[in-house]
Amino acid sequence: MPANWRRALVVMAHPDDPEYGVAAAVAEWTAAGREVSYLLATRGEAGIAGLPPAQSGPLREAEQRRAAAQVGVSGVDFLEYPDGRLQESPALRRDIARAIRIHRPDGVVTLNHRDTWGPGAWNSQDHQVLGRSVLNAVADAANEWIFPELAAEGLAPHTVAWTAVSSPWPTHAVTVSPESLERAVRSLMAHERYLRALADIPVEEQARRQVDLVTGGGESPRVGFELYGYELLEG
Ligand SMILES: [Zn+2]
Repeated sequence: MPANWRRALVVMAHPDDPEYGVAAAVAEWTAAGREVSYLLATRGEAGIAGLPPAQSGPLREAEQRRAAAQVGVSGVDFLEYPDGRLQESPALRRDIARAIRIHRPDGVVTLNHRDTWGPGAWNSQDHQVLGRSVLNAVADAANEWIFPELAAEGLAPHTVAWTAVSSPWPTHAVTVSPESLERAVRSLMAHERYLRALADIPVEEQARRQVDLVTGGGESPRVGFELYGYELLEG
């Protein structure tokens, strides 16, 4: 993974996406003094069975803010696109490019943009759309002509050095300490109401299982990423 950087922006589709994938790496980064912010395209209001979106949205936003605080994230923003109905659009790319120009990160982190998570594991349209939009928005943020309205808002173009995709086909990895692993578990546990509705398994057990699944558990836990742009940087 890139070593010399200061700031990262994590862009994902729903509250809980960072916690299901990259939170242990985020904990590792913030513990090392790096600055990490989250941007979520939706408030996840379609995510809890039996709880109408008008109640679910604010609840999930609050859970997301508590989850982010557990791993030292400095800010959480929401674009408020409709949960479950994300579509690739110039507007979504522009909104992500705007955030990139505001935060001016060295690296952007997003989630799997492919059809599946592996054989037999379909990836939701929201995730596919978001991941593809982020990879495109990274280029948009650096280009002065694609969304000239951003310059009119006073936001100068910004070039991101690398984009790391939380992917089942990693090319790079972040080794995580036991402390970061524990903080990642606490971070996912902050989605308490969501997890209680999801399965009849205690919240902490669900969180621990998921973090172990992502990091491989055992003696050398790590979070894998598929990196874009880094080779160019190194070359
Ligand atoms: Zn999601």
